[in-house]
Amino acid sequence: MKRVGIPHGLFYYYYYPLWKTFFNSLGAEVVTSPATNRLIVDAGIQKAVDETCLPIKVYFGHVFQLCQQNLDYIFIPRLVSIEAKSYICPKFMGVPDMIKATIPGLPPVIDIVIDLSKTDKLLKKDIFQLGRLFTRDNKAIRNAYKKGLQEYYFCRALAGQGYTMSEAIQVWEGTSQDITGEYDLNLGLLGHGYSLYDENISMNIVNKVRAMGCRVHLPETCDRKSIEAEAATIPKRVFWTLGRKMVGSALHMDKRKDIDGMIYVACFGCGPDSLIGEIIERKIKNKPFMLITIDEHTGEGGLVTRLEAFCDMLRRRRASSENNISSHG
Ligand code: SF4
Repeated sequence: MKRVGIPHGLFYYYYYPLWKTFFNSLGAEVVTSPATNRLIVDAGIQKAVDETCLPIKVYFGHVFQLCQQNLDYIFIPRLVSIEAKSYICPKFMGVPDMIKATIPGLPPVIDIVIDLSKTDKLLKKDIFQLGRLFTRDNKAIRNAYKKGLQEYYFCRALAGQGYTMSEAIQVWEGTSQDITGEYDLNLGLLGHGYSLYDENISMNIVNKVRAMGCRVHLPETCDRKSIEAEAATIPKRVFWTLGRKMVGSALHMDKRKDIDGMIYVACFGCGPDSLIGEIIERKIKNKPFMLITIDEHTGEGGLVTRLEAFCDMLRRRRASSENNISSHG
């Protein structure tokens, strides 16, 4: 049985169920690296160029970890676009090349191009080429991809129920996740999924605010049409898919009566975040908003202090009969 490695970073949080199902259906075994830990972060920092963002450095660490797993292939797709007229951050396009140039001893890299900006013809061709690494049966390849998409939509529906993408994947794999609790605040939490839902990169911010009494609202729990409608209200269209999702979600949450405040988790060294965070900060009018920028040096103690202060402010604001505590600090 052929073994395919899928690094536990970047697109993993969005597309792991799809590709795992696809490879399994074609008779391959899928191997993933463990959830991000200090060793993986340190390996990534050592291997990646200094100027890149933390999620990319962490991804390097995951690839390095997988290199020791006796794989037949490692799956590092070149993500260009996942929807018409929109793009993914350019670092995703270059990641297979950056990795090949810096990590020696890689197993053969599967770097199919995923570019749906104009047509899905190229992707279809690449899927068949990819499937032929495992079988000559075109029907089996088509069915494997169909099955993968079904699992992907199932996982996305789970995320719509309040699970983070990481928790949704665990539920999908059969591990139950309890997200119920005693919540007195409703908090919008925004950020790229691969940083926000990676418990090491985000220092487990989702569970930290839950433990502080906040019911967490994520972009995946918002209505997709409302997100697009709100994102379309800003003068220039945001052409990064994830960036537009953040802007639309923030503007949507800004209008919702049940949301008490919002936090945006940005990564130091992230080009799109420097713009998206700024747009959101300027456009939010009705809710308290906090921008947290993280990198590999961010201390957990400082993060907890800021979160506690933010939650205290939300409670005081809500309790104030005059409601006169500024939403802008
Ligand atoms: S969007 Fe930002 S965080 Fe994501 S890969 Fe690009 S630079 Fe890194």
